[in-house]
Amino acid sequence: MHTTRHSPFECPTCSTRIDSTSNLTRERQPYEGAVALCVYCGQMLIFGKGMVLRAATDADLDRLPKGLRTTLENARAALRQAKSIIAN
Ligand SMILES: [Zn+2]
Repeated sequence: MHTTRHSPFECPTCSTRIDSTSNLTRERQPYEGAVALCVYCGQMLIFGKGMVLRAATDADLDRLPKGLRTTLENARAALRQAKSIIAN
């Protein structure tokens, strides 16, 4: 996993300021149209016009390659499970 630091973006769901993103395959700045997963709240996100983060819609997720969508859903499930364990 490759982590890139960048100017902060705000998660539209939990309002966390996000100043780094991780890519599974290579170091890369976020780009318009990129999908992301907020590790603070588990929201699937899209970098929209002007690099403003917005919550991903079902239509956005339906357009993803199946393998990528499955990877993101598995990561979100693991994140939620880890948060549940930590909270208890
Ligand atoms: Zn969030």
